[in-house]
Amino acid sequence: MAAPAGSIRPQRVYPSSRMIPSATPVRDQFARPLGSLRLSVTDRCNMRCSYCMPETEYTWLPRASLLTFEELTRVTRIFASLGVRKVRLTGGEPLLRHGLPVLVRELAAVAGVDEIALTTNGLLLRRSAGELRDAGLDRVTVSLDTLRPERALVFSRTANHADTIDGVRAAREAGFAGVKLNTVVIRGFNDDELIDLLEFSREHGAETRFIEYMDVGGATRWSMDDVVSRERMLAIIESRYGRVDALHDGGPAPAERYRLPDGLSFGIIASTTAPFCRSCDRSRLTAAGTWLLCLYADDGVDLREPLRGNATDDEIAGLIRSRWQQRTDRGAEARLGIPDRGVLYQVESLRADPRREMHTRGG
Ligand code: SF4
Repeated sequence: MAAPAGSIRPQRVYPSSRMIPSATPVRDQFARPLGSLRLSVTDRCNMRCSYCMPETEYTWLPRASLLTFEELTRVTRIFASLGVRKVRLTGGEPLLRHGLPVLVRELAAVAGVDEIALTTNGLLLRRSAGELRDAGLDRVTVSLDTLRPERALVFSRTANHADTIDGVRAAREAGFAGVKLNTVVIRGFNDDELIDLLEFSREHGAETRFIEYMDVGGATRWSMDDVVSRERMLAIIESRYGRVDALHDGGPAPAERYRLPDGLSFGIIASTTAPFCRSCDRSRLTAAGTWLLCLYADDGVDLREPLRGNATDDEIAGLIRSRWQQRTDRGAEARLGIPDRGVLYQVESLRADPRREMHTRGG
């Protein structure tokens, strides 16, 4: 039975495990803590959003290369012992990974992990929202780039847009409070829907975050001309609702939050025009076990081999600790300084190394 709507999840009781969560997180060269881990559990997706998977053909990760639930839980335990407190499940589309509630239940028992979240396109959420909630999932973010099915058909090549909308409802019915809606705003595609999306979030008790279009791996059609800046978004919103107040929440979360005069809150993630690398505590693990210290990182650390080899938890923890302590990545800031900035990767280099693809790194 799903927990009552908005109910506080009872304090987790952690079975004693060898890897005790450290009180003080490991810090990088800019004193940024190793705080939140994005776990990609599959590179597959049932949509083809043009800012992530615009091509028709993709090189998929071999199934045998995907980390098992045991390996994902073990590595999360190791990261938690180094200070990770938040885990976000991503993909591709994470709900395509069979048995995901089983993994959520295992991760919910990892000492030190305070929050488990999920980013999904919502197409499969109706069928598993209740089970995920019961397994210990805390928060859900649904990617919703348009309210118009005909646009979703062209932009994301899906004829099932109604399932995403129903997925938002299913998340609330399952008891998830504070459902977030992520919208990547692109000039000439959905920049005329900001108001509609805000009103949709009001109607569904969710909070929308408008995301600036990013030139990350996979965005092979990206151009600065198609980017709608934070300033431009605020101007559109204020022209409809009047002056908007900034909510200075602080913290490493990427979204800057705002409140309309009538109290409705929303967020803007200005990754392209005003990156927030200075407080970035995020890293990513691909479904095949490559640990990436930045969304723009060209390469990462292979953790699958030591996980499947004879390395002990302490040895893997040592590898992660020393690598994070050397971290200086500020990818989005570095991109900001490039004149006449174009796409990050051409199709050929993405094919050469699928780990560069957004759908393998989990956004
Ligand atoms: S670009 Fe890299 S360093 Fe900057 S916020 Fe994104 S992941 Fe963090």
